[in-house]
This record gives sequence, C-alpha cells and structure tokens, in this order.
Amino acid sequence: MRAGHALVLFSGGQDSTTCLAWALTRFAQVETIGFDYGQRHHVELQARQTVLAAIRSRFAQWRERLGADHMIDLSVLGRISDTALTRDSAIQLSAAGLPNTFVPGRNLLFFNLAAAVGYRRGLHTLVGGMCETDFSGYPDCRDDSLKALQVAVSLGLGQRFTFETPLMWLDKAATWELARSLGGQALVELIVHDSHTCYHGVRGVLHAWGHGCGTCPACVLRQTGYDRWQARPVAVP
Ligand code: ZN
Repeated sequence: MRAGHALVLFSGGQDSTTCLAWALTRFAQVETIGFDYGQRHHVELQARQTVLAAIRSRFAQWRERLGADHMIDLSVLGRISDTALTRDSAIQLSAAGLPNTFVPGRNLLFFNLAAAVGYRRGLHTLVGGMCETDFSGYPDCRDDSLKALQVAVSLGLGQRFTFETPLMWLDKAATWELARSLGGQALVELIVHDSHTCYHGVRGVLHAWGHGCGTCPACVLRQTGYDRWQARPVAVP
C-alpha cells in the first residue's frame, strides 16, 4: 500500500466502484468526487450514496481509509446539452442510446474539476474508470487524451498530478474479475445489487449482472461482460 492520498471520480457505477476499491487497496486515504448534472442521474446519485455507505459498513479493511465525499453541481452540462445549439448532435446521441445530458469531452471537464478539488485538499492522484477497450467511441476516455490532460493540468496548476485509470485496458469481463480479486464475492455482490450503470435510470428487476433496462449500450456491455466472466473467469492482466 502506498502512503499517498487519492481522489476517485466516483459515479456509483460498476467501473467507478471497482476503481474506488482499487484505490482503497493502494492508498492510505481516499476521497471521492461526483458530479450532479441533471434529474436523469438522480438514480445514479442515489447509487453512489448506497455504495459508499455499504463500503463503510461491510468492508472493515477499507473503512478507515475512505474519507470525504465531494459533490459538484454541474447542472450547466444539462443546459449545454438541451439547447438548440447542440440539437443535431443530441439527436444522434439519442439514437445511440445515450442520455441527452451527454456532453462530448465531459471527462476532460471532470478531471479538471477533480484536480481543482484535489489541489486544495492535497490529493494529487486522481483515479478514473475510463476504459479504452470498451468505450473507444468516446475520445475523452482514451489513454492519450488523459495522459495529455495530466500534463496540461500539472503544468497549469503548478503541481504534479498523476491520473490513474486502472480499467483502461480491461474489458468488462476483466473488470468483474478485478472487483472479485479486490473485494471478493462481497464486492461483486455490492456491485451487482447497488451500483448503477443504465443510461435510462432503470432499476426494476434484479438481473444476475445487476439492475438496468438491459438494452441500452451501458447495460449491454455490463451484461455481456458479466456473462463472459461467468462462462470463463479471466485473469486480470
Ligand atoms: Zn440500460
């Protein structure tokens, strides 16, 4: 375990919950940051509180390391995405099953804001669940994008920051296996029951892989990854 402190970009989804567990096994003190950018994400915001409470109550080895949670109001993202200015793009995004609050480059904004909070709190390692393997359609999730931003942020704030993205080269099956290796079956069950990934905010029926509509791109990834992991558990590289 490292002595340092880390700030985890935590949405309450499968990926960021796995990243939070990853950070809690490595850093002496871990804080979390989340972004509130619209009603549609109310379910997600509820999920992150549930997951944080569960980690504090069920994972004694991590309880002492889990520090403050920071929520940032980003309602401006909803205003940008729902205006005529971006209407054509919004229609294309909706056809792809993405929420209308999706804004291109969103993760760049998240990292900038996390760095500002981390700067104030002495948290110079930022951890995010971005993944190039499954989400190559999002250029702001790519390794090159985040490495470039890490350099820009470090220069611009006059403070060396390290961006850690432990899921960058994993597929979803390997992400499930990483969760199991970090927190055992208890963490897998926490992710299945309480984390939220579905773009449409559907909870409803509990599937083997968790709650969700089962048809949006996020649900399909989560489900197919879970099925592949169950069929043939994969080693984490
Ligand atoms: Zn869904």
